[in-house]
Amino acid sequence: MDFGWSKEQQALREEVRSFLNDNLTPEVVAEMDEGAEGRSRGRGPKTMEFLGKVKQRGWLGISWPKEFGGQGKDRITQYLVEEEMTRNGVSIDQGGSGIPALMAAGTDEQKNYYIPRMINGEITFAQGFTEPSGGADLASLQCRAVEDGDFFVINGQKIFTSSAHVSTHIYLMSRTDPDAPKHRGISILIFALDTPGITVGPLWTIQNDPRAPRGTTYGTPRTNETFYEDVRVPKSSLLGEKNMGWYVGAMGLNLDRVGAGRYLMSIRRDEDITNWAKSNTLGDYDMKENQAIRDRIADLWTEAQVCRLMTLRSMSIIEHGGNFTYEGSAEKVWAPEHGVKCTESMVQFFGPYAQLLNGSPDNIESGLYAHNLLGAFQSGINHGSTQIMRDQVARRGLGMPRG
Ligand SMILES: Cc1cc2nc3c(=O)[nH]c(=O)nc-3n(C[C@H](O)[C@H](O)[C@H](O)COP(=O)(O)OP(=O)(O)OC[C@H]3O[C@@H](n4cnc5c(N)ncnc54)[C@H](O)[C@@H]3O)c2cc1C
Repeated sequence: MDFGWSKEQQALREEVRSFLNDNLTPEVVAEMDEGAEGRSRGRGPKTMEFLGKVKQRGWLGISWPKEFGGQGKDRITQYLVEEEMTRNGVSIDQGGSGIPALMAAGTDEQKNYYIPRMINGEITFAQGFTEPSGGADLASLQCRAVEDGDFFVINGQKIFTSSAHVSTHIYLMSRTDPDAPKHRGISILIFALDTPGITVGPLWTIQNDPRAPRGTTYGTPRTNETFYEDVRVPKSSLLGEKNMGWYVGAMGLNLDRVGAGRYLMSIRRDEDITNWAKSNTLGDYDMKENQAIRDRIADLWTEAQVCRLMTLRSMSIIEHGGNFTYEGSAEKVWAPEHGVKCTESMVQFFGPYAQLLNGSPDNIESGLYAHNLLGAFQSGINHGSTQIMRDQVARRGLGMPRG
């Protein structure tokens, strides 16, 4: 069996690289960064023009159905394009966990309205799941949505609502039946973030001051707290059945743990080390001549390939309609832990230089590796912590009882 890419797949990869070379100009990059930093809501004109060109080539929504504005192609094609885009800091995964959840649980009206607009980048979703009481025990959430005629009225608070300051919509978990067992009384509502009664406030991260340079893994300077005070949304905002939101959200999150973007978040650090060692020295010190460092880099590279194969396997299971249960959780353990090991190794290679942040004299690559080290602290926590993911692997993958 040949595990390599076909000639067509290789040609596609080259085509994407050359497209990025010609079209991802410093101006587009600057505007994208501005959006990510929250100085503008939604996507700016240069970003939209760039995404328009990506779309013309058929590279947006590659594996989503044609009837909803996608390309109806296979996931491996999507993976190839996404891998090149992600390496260059471009996200073409427009849906996050929202599109899989919408595809599985949305009404026809919701799918027809949201999915094409999400693919185009017109609608972007923040995810309002976690609350101040704790994200690991998500099912204990307190934010309430109470029925009032044709509306739900929402009151409560969310924390770590990343991108809410730049997104157009939110995908919110709230409690609709306080008397039901805690996993049962939850519903997901999707609605516009400019609905009256919503306040979005910044939560600055460790990467904000000094600001992490472009390319930092988990380098986002800001996430948010969001407050909901008598927010009225129509009942048509309900995604999936009332009180079954836990299952809709968990399925969406699980599927969103897979893909080139997710695994590259961790692997990029490995690639960065190799690339840096190949073409740089620290004064007279040449890392690539040090046998211990060479061995370590080779170990990390080998682990990275395991990570990549896990991703491809997951994509293949989903592509063939298989039972996708614990695989996303397994990746969410392996990839961030690999990323942490890469980051720690880099710190050992560079010594004290690895601690110099952006703006410090004598820093390396604008402090990229120092900021990656800071980012490593959050990589095992957000989007489902590695402890909780291990528990899911034990239960769903190995059939062990709940701990
Ligand atoms: C930068 C950033 C961005 C984020 N973005 C979003 C977002 O956009 N939307 C959103 O909804 N959430 C978001 N999150 C929240 C994230 O999903 C939570 O941080 C995560 O679920 C952990 O919850 P917590 O921080 O409240 O920690 P806690 O729940 O307090 O847990 C603390 C630690 O204890 C461990 N722990 C807790 N319970 C158990 C247990 N039963 N067994 C073993 N270990 C356990 C956890 O694994 C964790 O390591 C973000 C978080 C960060 C840091």
